[in-house]
Amino acid sequence: MSFSAQIITLFPELFPGPLGASVLGRGLRDQLWSLDAVQLRDFATDRHRTVDDTPAGGGAGMVLKPDVLARAIDHVSPPDDPRPRLLMSPRGKPLTQAMAHELAAGPGAVIVCGRFEGVDQRVIAARGLTEVSIGDYVLAGGEVAAMVLLEAVVRLIPGVLGAAESHADESFEHGLLEYPQFTRPQSFEGRDIPEVLTSGDHGKVDKWRQAEALALTRVRRPDLLDE
Ligand code: SAH
Repeated sequence: MSFSAQIITLFPELFPGPLGASVLGRGLRDQLWSLDAVQLRDFATDRHRTVDDTPAGGGAGMVLKPDVLARAIDHVSPPDDPRPRLLMSPRGKPLTQAMAHELAAGPGAVIVCGRFEGVDQRVIAARGLTEVSIGDYVLAGGEVAAMVLLEAVVRLIPGVLGAAESHADESFEHGLLEYPQFTRPQSFEGRDIPEVLTSGDHGKVDKWRQAEALALTRVRRPDLLDE
């Protein structure tokens, strides 16, 4: 069975969006993974199809109602669903390449996209939602965050990237940022490709790349080396 992603959102028309382009889109058409965006509003039961209400305790904005969201989750994800249930949230566990690998090796994910001030805390607990953040900033909704997560995950699914586009060497794969890349022309505005890269000596090339990756990581992201 291939990786199955289901999104619960007030804006299903945003999907697949960028996930339908290039290699991810090809993987979608080739059924290496599947994507289904579900309209949260379809699970409202009143005449006005209400999905949100004012925050208990007062304050600005609106909160997504727990009963409506729970019905949507139960519809796409029965209790024995092996897929993790994620909630995109700035309060969540930061998304990392390691998390992307873990998800890519699994059966898929059910992803809830918040809007407004977020979702009622009780449905997070009642449906075992794992909160995931894509960074320390606040977006207007979880849709773009869900796309970021899926884009990072789906490209790791075997067969999605062609053999020519391997990710074995990439940033974060070995706890380092990637070494600098070059391509033709040999000379660009007076700057040449480092000689070692055109030497044909693969041992030397590997050593140079490793040293560059380490130096770059030390300057830009020393926190990665501490881990
Ligand atoms: N009041 C909330 C922010 C709500 S933003 C707070 O202060 O924590 C509205 C929705 O956008 C959230 O429910 C979440 O689904 C999404 N979102 C915003 N920033 C995000 C981030 N950094 N990572 C993941 N999702 C985010």
